[in-house]
Amino acid sequence: MRLVLLGPPGAGKGTQAAILSDALSIPHVSTGDLFRDNISRETELGREAQQYMDAGRLVPTSVTANMVRTRLGQDDAAKGFLLDGFPRTIEQAEILRDMLAEKGESLDAVVNYTVSEDVVVERMLARGRKDDNEEVIRTRLQVYRDETAPLIDFYRELDLLVDVDAEGTVEDISSATLDALDK
Ligand code: ADP
Repeated sequence: MRLVLLGPPGAGKGTQAAILSDALSIPHVSTGDLFRDNISRETELGREAQQYMDAGRLVPTSVTANMVRTRLGQDDAAKGFLLDGFPRTIEQAEILRDMLAEKGESLDAVVNYTVSEDVVVERMLARGRKDDNEEVIRTRLQVYRDETAPLIDFYRELDLLVDVDAEGTVEDISSATLDALDK
């Protein structure tokens, strides 16, 4: 199964992805985690990404897309994957579509986690990651509204979108996701 998880920052995509990845036996591919791993290993890619992440802005698409292409080319992703954090723009969605089409593949579903802004701000402040301070959070939410939210209609028109309410408990949300994917 080839899945994308959509939702605002702080929607709990990473938490859900870990559970779904286990339940569906597909690797969790998180661009945020891949960047953070590169930053901690002090790679060139990490150095390039850091300034954007610290500001809550998007890392340039060329950099991000190459990283995703490499990751999805690894053996464990051949039969499926759970993408978390990519695509974040229509341009990235088109790149992903073309990347998969080259291999004769396509997405099976896009899970859209819906949650109010009050709840996501609360969750991010509680999480306290380096880019989880109020000003950076505001920027990330703005980037989400401007650049990422248009993907909801993009994928709805392709009949791939599955909406899941992300305001319940972790267990409620994961079982709602698995139920929705079953249909
Ligand atoms: P969250 O889900 O809370 O937004 P992530 O861990 O997914 O956090 O992403 C953290 C940061 O990594 C983003 O604010 C952005 O700077 C960078 N990033 C992640 N994915 C992408 C992407 N697809 N394109 C550009 N930048 C990205």
